[in-house]
Amino acid sequence: EAKRQGRQGYELFSAGLLEQSSRRFFIETQLDNALQDGQLYLNYQPWVQLPNGRVMGLEALARWRHPLEGCIAPLEFIPILEASSQIVRLGYWVLEQAFSQLQQLDRAGQSGLQMAINLSPHQLFDPQLHQRLAKLSQTYHIIPGRIVLELTEGVIITDYHQACEQMHRLQDAGYQLAIDDFGTGYSSLAYLSKLPVDRVKLDRSFILRMTESQLDRQLVQSVIDMLHAMGKQVIAEGVESSLQLEMLRQQGADGVQGYFLAHPVSECNLLSQLQQLAKRRDLSYMPPDEGS
Ligand code: C2E
Ligand code: MG
Ligand code: MG
Ligand code: MG
Repeated sequence: EAKRQGRQGYELFSAGLLEQSSRRFFIETQLDNALQDGQLYLNYQPWVQLPNGRVMGLEALARWRHPLEGCIAPLEFIPILEASSQIVRLGYWVLEQAFSQLQQLDRAGQSGLQMAINLSPHQLFDPQLHQRLAKLSQTYHIIPGRIVLELTEGVIITDYHQACEQMHRLQDAGYQLAIDDFGTGYSSLAYLSKLPVDRVKLDRSFILRMTESQLDRQLVQSVIDMLHAMGKQVIAEGVESSLQLEMLRQQGADGVQGYFLAHPVSECNLLSQLQQLAKRRDLSYMPPDEGS
């Protein structure tokens, strides 16, 4: 049985004709072609600040649409490219697109938004990263404080000391650093307190469970409180319902991202999505003492 459900519900092995091993080889060898042919593109998913419900930024998410194989999920191609170090090349392409998009949004009147970009271990450890970021920041007139670099706990496990050093350099240059998918890996609050991390993104598996069990709800509350005590902002990902949103608002989360707010969209739908999101009344905060 070649078909399997991916973590986020994608089929990792699509209806395409290739076997798993040849598909891996295919992905490893097709990156250059794909970049040249425009098969790769970015989707953007907004995140919203709490308690006020204001759109603060976007996350850039890589997409690969192959003319014969169809859509290849990032959960399939990112790990393969990471294993062959090609992620560095893809990563610089993603960075360039994302910076450029931010400049376009500034010009279109959606100014000052932040852009979150996912970084794999090889990218973080790439000696050129600082220089390349500095160049992009200059070219597209984007101050580093608007760029959020998302790292998973895996990066830190790979090489704690090198990761820590690199993260300090990036933070000193003004970039914001976030830990992504918090709660899925070897989550330890102890290492977090020592790392230069501005923001933590709670994995959607936490959020999924919190409406079902009181215990999970309390767990989320304690994690939020502890992260706040360390001075970190907490963003919840995978928010799919207004119930989850309201719980997180009550619990003091600093932001939310997820299908309830917006699905990731391509660049041509981004502006209209942002405008719609800004108009949504169900997101704005009603202080408990006022009104009705
Ligand atoms: P991530 O950074 O944790 O991104 C969030 C993932 O959750 C995205 O999946 C997004 O589409 C999905 N998502 C957002 N809201 C919801 C929701 O309410 N419900 C559900 N079920 N899912 C939601 P996607 O786009 O498939 O990306 C998967 C992962 O691939 C990302 O997880 C990230 O780790 C990695 N990735 C994506 N683009 C890049 C990239 O350019 N570079 C690197 N290094 N990794 C990337
Ligand atoms: Mg992310
Ligand atoms: Mg995430
Ligand atoms: Mg995730």
